[in-house]
Amino acid sequence: MTKTIAILIDGVNPRQMKAGMPFITAFAKKHCYASIVSMLGYSIGIHPSIWSGKYQDEHGMFTTFYYDPEHSPFTWTRLLKCFPTHFIRKNVLAMMKAPYFLLPGGKMLTPKFIKNRVVPLPPAIPIDVAPYFSNNLPEPKGTLFELLDKKGITYSKQSDSEGYFGEYRTLEDMTLTDSDIDFYYLYRSDELGHIHGPYSVQVMNYLQKADNKIKELLENARRLHSKIHFMLFSDHGMCEVKNFINIQKILSVTKLKNGRDYIAFYDSTMARFWPATEEAKQAIISTLASVKGITFLDSKLLKRYRIDFPDKTRYGELIFLADPETRIFPDYFAPIKGGLKGWHGFDPAFPDSKGVFVTNLLVHKKEIKIIELFKFIKKAAGL
Ligand SMILES: [Zn+2]
Repeated sequence: MTKTIAILIDGVNPRQMKAGMPFITAFAKKHCYASIVSMLGYSIGIHPSIWSGKYQDEHGMFTTFYYDPEHSPFTWTRLLKCFPTHFIRKNVLAMMKAPYFLLPGGKMLTPKFIKNRVVPLPPAIPIDVAPYFSNNLPEPKGTLFELLDKKGITYSKQSDSEGYFGEYRTLEDMTLTDSDIDFYYLYRSDELGHIHGPYSVQVMNYLQKADNKIKELLENARRLHSKIHFMLFSDHGMCEVKNFINIQKILSVTKLKNGRDYIAFYDSTMARFWPATEEAKQAIISTLASVKGITFLDSKLLKRYRIDFPDKTRYGELIFLADPETRIFPDYFAPIKGGLKGWHGFDPAFPDSKGVFVTNLLVHKKEIKIIELFKFIKKAAGL
């Protein structure tokens, strides 16, 4: 039986791979390498596409936060309205969120009651709109793992993201198993890329460690198995944040109010709107249409990006996309402007938005679409 090793490394672009992963770069030269054109959006929508070969408008996952007031975990934030001013409300919420932030040593101070979601805190969503949003969509069905279960192909999943994708292991503790396929999800490249920037010392150190670990896994596998299928792929790239655009401020000229005339969600690279009236809709489009640094996703672009959902209620009636390397700020994920030095979710064709694919399977193209990964994974798995 062939041993398969499949590694998903989060948020790594071709430049980062070349700079930080010498073993993988040499392996790519010897075997096969292709860059990956990912999809508009974030890991939450892209991962189901990797494991199912379906676009986001087919499996239905797109953004972490979506419009669903009925099931919102943030309805309790309405209680904060009893504090007299916006300033006090904002600070009370900020104090509750303080445990989310990293200490200089890199340790997360999150206490149990937050981790266990007894009090779900909206990252940086203002309380006027937080109760409209939810973040609990179940993972889509029909993925690779169901197929493997059906066929009786054994697999293990190890990940350095706590509570996501199988068994939690630090990079150092990841090992080969007796399964037919070992899946590894290396998440911290994404986290460190966001906080310190894609080409930071912290990211490069992590990539070097990952590179060493992959070399070790492959050497061990070669000792134990006569045939190995190896795949390493990223879900998307990572871009530097060089410009900022304050959509909320630009919209203030319309005198429309977020939470009353429309609901807005600012995703760092996208601004999504649910206008209350046709007038509000037209005012948002006409005000933002001429602004440099963002693009309105009309139906042609929604179709091109494969996010033209038939029901526009869930992910937004109007969607604007920021230019590469431009962060919408304030956004609803992180309240500090300088706190994030890397971001992704821009036009997938932008060079640093691209992902990487390294394998000893035969790849005949220099660049693949991310949904094409599925057929390679299936082939490697013997499906
Ligand atoms: Zn990310």
